[in-house]
This record gives sequence, structure tokens and C-alpha cells, in this order.
Amino acid sequence: MSIPMADLKAQYRALEPEIKSALLDVLEKGQFILGENVSSLETEIAEMCGANYGISVASGTDAITIALAALGIGPGDEVITTPFTFVATTESIVLVGARPVYVDIDPATYNIDPSAVEKAITPKTKALLPVHLYGQCAQMDELLAIAEKHGLAVICDGAQAIGSKYKGKPIGQLGHAATLSFFPTKNLGAYGDGGMMLTNDDAVAEKARSLRFHGMSSSYEYRHIGYCSRLDEIQAAILRVKLPYLTAWNEARRNNAAKYSKVLTGSPIIPPIELPENYHIYHQYTARCANREVVQSKLKNAGVASAVYYPSPLHVQQAYSYLGYKLGDFPEAEKASKEVFSIPVHPNLSDEQVQTVIDALKVAVESC
Ligand SMILES: *Cc1c(COP(=O)(O)O)cnc(C)c1O
Repeated sequence: MSIPMADLKAQYRALEPEIKSALLDVLEKGQFILGENVSSLETEIAEMCGANYGISVASGTDAITIALAALGIGPGDEVITTPFTFVATTESIVLVGARPVYVDIDPATYNIDPSAVEKAITPKTKALLPVHLYGQCAQMDELLAIAEKHGLAVICDGAQAIGSKYKGKPIGQLGHAATLSFFPTKNLGAYGDGGMMLTNDDAVAEKARSLRFHGMSSSYEYRHIGYCSRLDEIQAAILRVKLPYLTAWNEARRNNAAKYSKVLTGSPIIPPIELPENYHIYHQYTARCANREVVQSKLKNAGVASAVYYPSPLHVQQAYSYLGYKLGDFPEAEKASKEVFSIPVHPNLSDEQVQTVIDALKVAVESC
């Protein structure tokens, strides 16, 4: 495929001298766990996301798990979330011993539908776990109002949304905690796994810091049953090289997205919408069409990759069948799974490549 969904080699080529020198520096210093790059990165990302604290961990999945645990969510608790997301959102709830309770999505944004949340609340509900899917924030005012009324914690899965904003607020200011992933293809990606939890709450931050390090309180004293989940110093050094470019990269994604949407608006292929209160960072450019297969084959013929995020919602996955959901329970999530497709929107696309995608979209529009 000549135009891939992500181009990490092109990104590396552009940053090669900086990356190499940052890596060598870590090797020379010989501190590999919880060193100065990790603590500086935590400060830099917390600041960029408007949070008081950043606690880095080994993955985006661990960031959600540790955020839930730090907020005291565990066995017997229910957490309301979306079935239309990457599996890690649900998996984290189950890993802390709690029960995921799904509500359907808003078909316009693919994010959790706030109007469906209240009906799902029971005496066991302890938290809401919305996802800022594809890089666009969930409807936070509505969700936070429901949470406040019922005394629930709000943890936002921001794995796809670093740098996004809701009503001008960065994601570290939305809810009790937010989580990030540094999976290599995310908008800010490491050269391996990594993640971070953001919070403004002193006690939650302190507990999360302890949890990522086996629940240790002081030297070889353990207050909690914890995890072994740290971000490597090497990954932190790489992320610190990339971080200053993130705003420009997100802007480049938005520019590419605007060009694609110009072609699709008013056509049988429905482009993603950006709500006026949002600053969407287009981790994915995701459109929908009832004839998805035809569209994807036209794109393929033009050498343009496409992918489906996500082909099957979580409530019908075998691993989570014990929750008792069935096909038909969340019609919007199910319909979206059959219709959505994402196309390359990353900042390493050349002008020529963007034009190729545009031309391929024009052909696809004609054929569906
Ligand atoms: C990538 C992702 C995660 C998990 O991140 P990892 O770093 O791979 O563990 C969680 N939620 C969503 C929505 C994601 O896209």
C-alpha cells in the first residue's frame, strides 16, 4: 500500500539526530527506571493537558486500570462505558474487579450518548468511563452533570485524544482523571508501550504513584497491592523529543481532515463531524458509508490504505459474553461497526499523498 495508515519511518527520518542523541544520553547515564526524563515528561505532559499531576505507566491500558484503582473502583462496583471503543477500556474495568455497564453511542460523534447514561445508573454504579474516540472529546458537560448528581467518578479514556480540547479545556481538566497511551501509532507515540494518567487530585495522584510501583509507600513498605507498571526512561526520552512537535502534528491532521471533509460533505459517504465545542485532533479520520466494502476497495485500487475501528462492538465479544449482553442491545454501536472506515490522516503525509487520497475519495463517492 503506497499510502499507509501511519508512517513511523518517515517520522523517524525527520527526527533521527534528535532521537539518537536522546537515546545515547540515557544509555550513558545508566538510569533506566523512573529517572529524570520520566519526571520531566510527566511535568511537561501534565502542563500541556492542564492537569496538576501526570503519572506515567507502562501502557495506556495500565493508565486506565491504575486510574480506576486509585479512585477506589473495585469488586462490586459498576462502571458505565461505551461498547464502541478499543477493548482496553472495558478490559481495565474488569481487571480491577468491577463490572462494565454499556450504554449506546451518539451516531454523529461515535462517543457515549449522555442521554442514555442516567438510565444505566444503579446503586452499584461508581464511575463513568467515557472515551474521547478518534480524538474528539465526549460530551463532558452533560456527563459531568450526571456524575455530580449521582456522586460518580469520571475517568476519561484519552488514549486517542492528547492535545484535544472541549470548550477550550484540555483533557486533563475534564473529570477526576484522564488517561493517555503512547502506543507507537498514537498522536504522541513511543518506540514501544507507554501510558500516563492525569489528575488534579493530590490523594489520587499519590495513590497512583504508589500503585505503579507495587503499592509501595516508603522503602519496602507496602500500603496497597500494586502493579509493576512504569514508563522506561528510554521511552520517556523519545517522547520528550517528540512532544514539542505534537501541536503542529495535530494541526497537520486537522488540515488533512478538512480537505477530506470538503470532498465528502453532501455525498453518500458521511464525514466525521467536529462539534463546535470541540478541538478534534483526528487520531483517526473516520467516515461512514452503508457500502463500506465498495469504498474500501476503491481506495485500495488507488493505493490508499483504510482500516475499520472497530469491526465488532465489545458487548458481542466472546470474552465479555458473561456480562449477558446480546446483539441488538446497542443498535448505534452495532450499525457504526458495520459502516465506519478510517483513512490515512497522519502528519507525515506529503501534499502529493493527500492529493492521492482526495482523488481516491472522489472516485469512491461516485461509486456508492
Ligand atoms: C490505544 C488505546 C488504549 C490502550 O492503549 P495501550 O497503550 O495500547 O495499552 C485504550 N483505549 C483506547 C481508546 C485506545 O485507542
